[in-house]
Amino acid sequence: LSKSKGRNRYEFFSYIIEEQAIEKRRILEEIRVALNEDQFVLYYQPIFDLDGINVSKAEALIRWQHPQHGLIGPNEFIPMAEQNGLIEDIGNWVREQAIHDAAQWYYMSGQIMQVSVNCSPLQFDRAGQWVDDWILACNKQGLPRDTMVIEVTENTLMDPESPIQQQMHRLSHNGIDIAIDDFGVGYSSLAYLQRLDIDILKIDRSFIQHMETNESSIALVRAIITMASHLKVQVVAEGVETTGQHQILQQLSCDYLQGYLFAKPMPKEQFTELYITPLTSKVS
Ligand code: C2E
Ligand code: MG
Ligand code: MG
Ligand code: MG
Repeated sequence: LSKSKGRNRYEFFSYIIEEQAIEKRRILEEIRVALNEDQFVLYYQPIFDLDGINVSKAEALIRWQHPQHGLIGPNEFIPMAEQNGLIEDIGNWVREQAIHDAAQWYYMSGQIMQVSVNCSPLQFDRAGQWVDDWILACNKQGLPRDTMVIEVTENTLMDPESPIQQQMHRLSHNGIDIAIDDFGVGYSSLAYLQRLDIDILKIDRSFIQHMETNESSIALVRAIITMASHLKVQVVAEGVETTGQHQILQQLSCDYLQGYLFAKPMPKEQFTELYITPLTSKVS
């Protein structure tokens, strides 16, 4: 009895795995279609000054406007695209779209709204052509290059021998800013902070989330802010959700705030209306 049970279970699992493989292939095919048919959109989440009122930066966050399934978040398709090389095509699309939008805002307002773009390490080619693509795209739009920020996680930078190091140097040498995303949860060495010209540290939401209940979270956030100010690196607190967290961050003199307490990611049109149009009326 137990033997047949075991076999059944085995068959059951292999059936599931086969189904998952088919499902995966189907999604990959759909991502190709999505790229061809313009189903991806960029949402923008404003990043606020410490007062929680002024906005001087935004993070571009990809969404998939699926014809049947509606709006799909990046966690549901980016990991799969990373495994299959499609992340390069998605990354190229994101770069062009984000630079296009940033340029439009720049020409509307005459002011720089810094726009950051998430880059997965798997979209960096060994030859570093992607760095030239970034510089070229900014130049083509006549956009000051320090308008654009590339967000990478610590893990991307952990290997000093990797060609990515050289490429990050070339990026910052050409004026494009570098932000470390999800800071504090990745690789534990801080050596890359000295090696590279980092502009922004984004403190991971998990630290911000626990500040109100956990003294050690406050201590960590304080230490990060102190270190960053000595290194002349800006600090963004990610995932600020409560006024209590906001108050603590004000006491700690954090530079910038991002989170649902202030605003969720929104379509480009809404961002323009709320944060760019008011700037244009000030100018005229
Ligand atoms: P991330 O770069 O750390 O982005 C922050 C995520 O936290 C976003 O989720 C944002 O909507 C969410 N968030 C912001 N404020 C709050 C808050 O107060 N509370 C909570 N609970 N969440 C908040 P989203 O848009 O689902 O993106 C998830 C991740 O997908 C991003 O994490 C990033 O790693 C990746 N991603 C997004 N867009 C792109 C892209 O264009 N390219 C690549 N390679 N990855 C992307
Ligand atoms: Mg990010
Ligand atoms: Mg710089
Ligand atoms: Mg993050």
